[in-house]
Amino acid sequence: MNGNEKNTMLTLALSKGRIFDETMPLLKAAGIEVLEDPEKSRKLILPTNHANVRVVLVRASDVPTYVQYGGADLGVTGLDTLIEHGGGVAGGVATTGLYQPLDLQIAKCRMSVAVRSDFDYAAMVKQGARLKVATKYTTIARDFFATKGVHVDLVKLYGSMELAPLTGLADAIVDLVSTGNTLKANHLVEVERIMDISSRLVVNQASIKLKMAHIRPLIDAFAQAVDARKVG
Ligand code: AMP
Repeated sequence: MNGNEKNTMLTLALSKGRIFDETMPLLKAAGIEVLEDPEKSRKLILPTNHANVRVVLVRASDVPTYVQYGGADLGVTGLDTLIEHGGGVAGGVATTGLYQPLDLQIAKCRMSVAVRSDFDYAAMVKQGARLKVATKYTTIARDFFATKGVHVDLVKLYGSMELAPLTGLADAIVDLVSTGNTLKANHLVEVERIMDISSRLVVNQASIKLKMAHIRPLIDAFAQAVDARKVG
């Protein structure tokens, strides 16, 4: 690839699963179709019907890193992942140097506090008790409880958070909730809703300057598709 081709090649970082699946209709609205199914292919770089647009498959928590350091020009990532990465909640230019032009309104869920149904969370908070909270989302949890003035000991976990209150590892968890079925199945109840979560388009700041002519139409097509969905 020579210098010119490199400047016109657009690389989009996605994670497999919900984000990949829900980004496909937005790409389609921009006239872009991914030519291989990530569930069937072992490839990590997927071609599209545009020779100068490709998709790279990365772990969800690595999307902001790929885009921040230029391994990809654009990416789609949950607000939760972005905050934990240090990207902040602000629109526009984030502190990490990632540009966040669009809330894609996909992979919607909420970040919540949940406890065992027999744990009196309200009474504990009122008493000023120190709570043990297990979560993968330590930045969000720390900020939330600090703002509330509740003292917490955070226990970092990487998955199956629901187990923590059931085994006595923690009094509460901070986790993503969508339908609430996972909490229900594990006899947990949602006691606080911290924030609504959806996935964002993130763009490398150098790419937006160097490849503006290619990136702008893509952002505009995504924005139109998001708006059309709101109306529809
Ligand atoms: P649910 O049972 O529908 O409330 O889903 C909860 C489970 O799915 C939890 O384990 C969450 O961590 C996970 N989850 C729900 N929504 C999302 C999302 N948008 N992105 C990533 N994980 C999610």
